[in-house]
Amino acid sequence: MDAKEKCGIVAASSADDVDVVPKVVQGLEALQHRGQESWGIAAPGKQILKRMGLVTDWASQAAELAHYCGSSGIGHVRYSTKGRSVLDNAQPIQIESEFSIAHNGTIANAEALAAKASEEFGASCDSDTRATGYRLLHHLREAGDMFKAFERLSSELSGAYCFAILAADGSAYAIRDPRGYRPLALGYIEEARTYAAASESCALEAMGAAFVRDIEPGEIVMLNKKGIESRRFSPKVEPAFCSFEFTYFAHPSSRINGVSVYEARKNFGRILAKRFRIEADVVVPVPDSARPAALGYALESGIPMDEGLMKDRYKRKGSIRSFIEPDQGGREEVVKKIIPVRDVIKGKRVVVIDDSLVRGTSSKSIVDSLKKAGAASVKMAVTFPPIRHPCYMGIDFPTKEELLAHKVAGNEPDLAKTAELVAKEIGVEEFYYNDIEGLAAATGLPKDSMCYACVTGDYSKVSEPRVRSERSVEA
Ligand code: SF4
Repeated sequence: MDAKEKCGIVAASSADDVDVVPKVVQGLEALQHRGQESWGIAAPGKQILKRMGLVTDWASQAAELAHYCGSSGIGHVRYSTKGRSVLDNAQPIQIESEFSIAHNGTIANAEALAAKASEEFGASCDSDTRATGYRLLHHLREAGDMFKAFERLSSELSGAYCFAILAADGSAYAIRDPRGYRPLALGYIEEARTYAAASESCALEAMGAAFVRDIEPGEIVMLNKKGIESRRFSPKVEPAFCSFEFTYFAHPSSRINGVSVYEARKNFGRILAKRFRIEADVVVPVPDSARPAALGYALESGIPMDEGLMKDRYKRKGSIRSFIEPDQGGREEVVKKIIPVRDVIKGKRVVVIDDSLVRGTSSKSIVDSLKKAGAASVKMAVTFPPIRHPCYMGIDFPTKEELLAHKVAGNEPDLAKTAELVAKEIGVEEFYYNDIEGLAAATGLPKDSMCYACVTGDYSKVSEPRVRSERSVEA
């Protein structure tokens, strides 16, 4: 299987026949942090519009978009670290003439679905989304109804997913998997009598929609001219919301599962400061996602925070997030665009706050640049525990070998020992990790309601047998 999708999705439908395409585009722009490789939109009766690059570049295609309209629509921004970064893999994807589909997540048993799609439809499926789409088509043709069709499909799906689907009759659907790994929120634009669903509440805000609620794990919501209709497609099971969304992936202005991402990040910093009294003169965040945590650390510790690292926003890649760049070359290019502010750093004992340490590429480079800028010492604390295991639920930590904590410390159970080994590797005097308890406490959510599989290697919540067997091959 070639492509795995992470991404952000949007769906909207107006009861007043108002053109919702501009709203969908606004929603996608607000979800740009979830995917920066390509984007696309679908509206009833129109060919899907797909482009490589950023949605914000859409101004250059404004004339084309002016003719692209519809009273319902769906949209997608794509991030893929394994799939080819080509237009073919951009979404939404059209499935025959019946519907288009956009996906945020990873379907672990896509190979099996693709084989069935090939057998039944002669379809060549090079992505988990296309394979899932064709299986949905199979069930839709049998059941004649999207709710029933998805309920049947859900028993075949392993992994994590949120889907936006646009049916031929113009109805849009927003679907969240039974564990709720990825976020999905519902909103309403009063003046246009438009319901909207989006990966994060920040997109609803950008669309001018009032937040209505999170879409429940195991829920499918239909949005059409009559309003909304919701059904459960699976029994309730213990949720497994991705804790990495709070740390890094989600936008700080979003509220997820009733929790402000910004406040959670600030609390991560406070918790680190309570646990580790680090001797330092200045707290420096790694831009951008670690800013709230650094503020929390500074407030709790009394050490002043300053912007000692800046993104160069005027270079092409200055505003792009390094972790979601599709290849190592791209990630390094992004890191080079983080520039130390010599006047803040020179002669100071710096404590750098970062959200997480995955491959260690950016950390090493940042530490090096701080030293070159004259820092008296560099220490570091990160808000996410050591990542030692791959994710099969929609964030691509592809192999253990790429994960620094695993590389230098294996399965060392002692957090302090692991941190010591990481410190040596990235060249800092001291290094500190948050732990799972601290992570859960900062969000205020029950510890058992979140996923930490990339930290613990415990995938027991992913109970589907096909996921387990694929994992054992890769582990
Ligand atoms: S394994 Fe890690 S990144 Fe993947 S869903 Fe779980 S917490 Fe999120």
